Amino acid sequence: MSGEAEHLIRPKVEALEEILGKPFKVLDDGFIRVIDYMGSDQAVVQAARVSYGAGTKKVSQDRGLIRYLMRHRHTTPFEMCEIKFHVRVPMDTWRQWIRHRTANVNEYSTRYSVAIDAAQTTTPEEWRLQATGNRQGSAGFLDAETGVKLSEREAELQRLAREIYEERLAAGVAREQARKDLPLSTYTEAYWKIDLHNLLHFLALRMDEHAQYEIRCYAKIIGEEIVSRWCPLVWEAFLDYRMNALALTRLEIELIQAIEKGNKEQAIQLAREFGWLPQDPSAPVKRHREREECEEKFQRLNIPIPWAT
Ligand SMILES: Cc1cc2nc3c(=O)[nH]c(=O)nc-3n(C[C@H](O)[C@H](O)[C@H](O)COP(=O)(O)OP(=O)(O)OC[C@H]3O[C@@H](n4cnc5c(N)ncnc54)[C@H](O)[C@@H]3O)c2cc1C
Repeated sequence: MSGEAEHLIRPKVEALEEILGKPFKVLDDGFIRVIDYMGSDQAVVQAARVSYGAGTKKVSQDRGLIRYLMRHRHTTPFEMCEIKFHVRVPMDTWRQWIRHRTANVNEYSTRYSVAIDAAQTTTPEEWRLQATGNRQGSAGFLDAETGVKLSEREAELQRLAREIYEERLAAGVAREQARKDLPLSTYTEAYWKIDLHNLLHFLALRMDEHAQYEIRCYAKIIGEEIVSRWCPLVWEAFLDYRMNALALTRLEIELIQAIEKGNKEQAIQLAREFGWLPQDPSAPVKRHREREECEEKFQRLNIPIPWAT
């Protein structure tokens, strides 16, 4: 590092410049667009080299450095990049989104302005069934006939809620009070600014299949359409080392070691010690979340599940 004045050129990412301000449609009436940004893959590399010393600036080495930082969770260089979005999102999705505290937010005020006259609608084939395995999730869809009725009732509810809201405004009720019965499907808009490190954390949680479908739609666009253009090397490393990576616990490692040794009985005994299987081999096997998570990982790795056969 040198303290001498050097000529700095603000990084400009052409691929992102091309989509600056252009909205990506999300859900039926939502959108997300990039308003501004700071930094690029280069800014991550530049910041990291302050700690590692100036090196060669070949692209392949920049890629290697970014991948090293991502693998080793050396996170601060990623905080050198910032991005500002303008989003239009239903209030129930926004409620999940806003839980991410490491962003800067300014939201449309329904105290100051009349609420946006748009609510997210659900087509007959989009009504999801409650999942049985995961209390927080959905699995499969309702039949088309029921879906038609539910969509009609949704339209009635949204129409009535809006009508009553506008009646209150017309009667002179303050906007801050008139809004209280608007449905959570009502769209809101916000400016949302976040650094790349915290954005990747948001994406890891909200692109994941455990996140609700609606917020996943937004996260997918941020990741696949925006971050991939903005910082392609970071995006690639994120997919390889975070999003599509798999973490093994100590318990799972011990099981794999037993399976590798061909010792199926020892693996089953370990699972009993972990409390994943009943102590009494003749007792029925109950559901166990951690065991099921381990089974999913073993399936992904093509490792035979010792207690399954
Ligand atoms: C699938 C899923 C299900 C969820 N279910 C629920 C639920 O049922 N109920 C519910 O209430 N929430 C739920 N959440 C929200 C979740 O608990 C988090 O609040 C949300 O995902 C934000 O994550 P975060 O705090 O890591 O992110 P951010 O707020 O962006 O923070 C990023 C990181 O900064 C650090 N940080 C930020 N603020 C603090 C602080 N004050 N102190 C210490 N460290 C801090 C932490 O390391 C944190 O991980 C769910 C989230 C997901 C993805």
